[in-house]
Amino acid sequence: KTAAASVRELRVGYRTPDGPLWAVDGVNFDIAPGESLGLVGESGCGKSTLGRALMQLMPPGGATYGSVSIGGEELIGASARRLRQRRGEDISLIFQEPMTRLNPLMRISDHFVEMIRTHKPRTSKKQARAMARAALSQMGVPPTRADHYPHEFSGGMRQRVMIALGIVLRPNLLVADEPTTSLDVIVESQILDILDDLRGKEGAGLLLITHNLGIVAETCDRVAVMYAGKIVEIGPVDQIFTDPKHPYTRGLLASTISLDTTELHSIPGYPPNLLDPPPGCRFAARCPYVMDRCRDAEPVLTEANAGQQVACYLYPGAGAEVPADITPPS
Ligand code: SF4
Ligand code: MG
Repeated sequence: KTAAASVRELRVGYRTPDGPLWAVDGVNFDIAPGESLGLVGESGCGKSTLGRALMQLMPPGGATYGSVSIGGEELIGASARRLRQRRGEDISLIFQEPMTRLNPLMRISDHFVEMIRTHKPRTSKKQARAMARAALSQMGVPPTRADHYPHEFSGGMRQRVMIALGIVLRPNLLVADEPTTSLDVIVESQILDILDDLRGKEGAGLLLITHNLGIVAETCDRVAVMYAGKIVEIGPVDQIFTDPKHPYTRGLLASTISLDTTELHSIPGYPPNLLDPPPGCRFAARCPYVMDRCRDAEPVLTEANAGQQVACYLYPGAGAEVPADITPPS
């Protein structure tokens, strides 16, 4: 079966007055149809940039390298026309604040008609409206509300509308970037249930970008932990939450458990300046287990457990042998 998404050696760079900056620096992962991958990490780690790179939605001056294949078709290097076509049809991005993505002067149904007919020009307006009503009711929005304007909806209802817009063309991959951050807890859990339901029923892959590990634990099959532009650990959620390997993952999990906060502040120190990253492990300056070799060369992702990969010299295979006097954290 074709992967919903297959990402290889993805790099996203910006030219700055101080030189090139790699916001995403050599990332690899797959998402199977119907699978959800959570992407976590501190703000600025590159997770939103990665999400946008999957859609080839880059801010001016940004460039992507490597491979992003969605439903078996390469996106990097595709023409602007082809990209427009595939956004919405094969890949949909669901944002944090839906209000900014809806035109306040257009009825909800007209957003659907425009979107559907851009991608499927031969769909009649009548057909498009019927598709809109079906997608809305699938999201728990009464179809009668299709004729309302965006401001007539609550935040939670607007997010449902956005998701309905995102799925109406049955994309292979949904990318949701902090989709519930501005919502209250009850609405949040409803939205998460909807996303969960969707990938089950529609077989869409889901990349869920969030700083909230609780949401990942509830919603995702696998999780990727990002630090300073790189994935430092990736694997099944139950495995990583019960047996995290990377010192950064361990710090993240400890901070969430002890502080019950949505921000990840409790690991002392800061990520490196990406304009001048250190030559070795990017977590070295904050790592309680740092060794000399960590500062010399970068550790690479290596299998630590079935399906669980970690980039850290504490584990055999990450580029060199574990020294005898080091006991990996257990
Ligand atoms: Fe810490 Fe070294 Fe592992 Fe990096 S490679 S996380 S510095 S032990
Ligand atoms: Mg972000």
